[in-house]
Amino acid sequence: MTQLQEFIDYLSTPRKAVIVTHHKPDADALGSSLGLAAYLKKIHHNVSVITPSDYPSFLNWLPGNNEVIIYSEQKKEKIAELVKDAEIIFCLDFSALSRINSIGEMIRHATAKKVLIDHHLEPEKFADFEQWDPKAASTAGLVYDLLISMGDRSKIDSAIADCLYAGLLTDTGGFRHNNTRREEFMIASDLVSLGANPTQVSKLIYDNNTVERLRLMGYVLSEKLIVLPEYKTAYMTLNEEELKKFGSQSGDTEGFVNYGLSIEGIVLSVMIYQRTGEVKLSFRSLGDFSVNELARKYFNGGGHRNAAGGTSETSLQETLDYFLKILPEYKDKLISEQ
Ligand code: 5GP
Ligand code: MN
Repeated sequence: MTQLQEFIDYLSTPRKAVIVTHHKPDADALGSSLGLAAYLKKIHHNVSVITPSDYPSFLNWLPGNNEVIIYSEQKKEKIAELVKDAEIIFCLDFSALSRINSIGEMIRHATAKKVLIDHHLEPEKFADFEQWDPKAASTAGLVYDLLISMGDRSKIDSAIADCLYAGLLTDTGGFRHNNTRREEFMIASDLVSLGANPTQVSKLIYDNNTVERLRLMGYVLSEKLIVLPEYKTAYMTLNEEELKKFGSQSGDTEGFVNYGLSIEGIVLSVMIYQRTGEVKLSFRSLGDFSVNELARKYFNGGGHRNAAGGTSETSLQETLDYFLKILPEYKDKLISEQ
């Protein structure tokens, strides 16, 4: 972070702090937020963690989860007040205020100092302090880097370490994606030294399925996975009825998109599904093929080169038709990718 000393000085007196992360937070979003919250509380700040939406129940074990304020019509006023009264607002794991729905405009107009801690491409310029690095695999790792650069390694206890480890683990896809550098292993190693429990965290995140989710996965892989070898592309869709039939809950579709990419020769995998009020798209790619660019250009989204997401306001079928219509534009790039 540039202006690190100014940041440290600002935090040298107790502050009213707000931490906010993106819509439908994943383990990196929530783990980095709760890890940072626990640290800030330890150094005597008054901290509120806000999420713009609910999140999967397999994240409920994260230390500090009980205090998270989830946006709802009833909580709207309370959240507006917290944002207005805050002296410092931390924005974690997203790079544009539009990703946090109506809280985005509250934050834009707030008088608090704003801090961006993030690793997504092309960030919006709204923060006074930035801990931003698109090469970092996770926001949790950037929170770790920040605490280290503040000289506060000793403040990282096992609860904070578990929160950060969870983000690091999931955003690297279990240390498998091509964003996994030497640095990620160094951070993981140090977090384990500080008390993170890798076996337990992995179990809580990956081996915590409901039977319904497993059956939904079986269904989508056997019935809904379409492979287009001429585009080196695989895609899956799930509509409202299908999700309902399997009793699916928020977050149940997370990770499905990776199976498309696990097919030999596939370079682009897409998962399209119905979510309350919108259609959500999840993209994964290999090599130089940028799903960030595709999501940004056509689906009002973004993310990283090889993992991105977007949304559509048309129906599921129309969204799929639109995707299939634009696919030929990318044929040459897809085919040239190994
Ligand atoms: P996922 O497919 O797992 O939901 O998201 C993959 C990556 O893309 C994550 O880094 C996530 O933050 C980002 N992402 C997902 N959906 C959106 C979206 O609608 N807009 C933007 N800008 N990024 C997204
Ligand atoms: Mn992340």
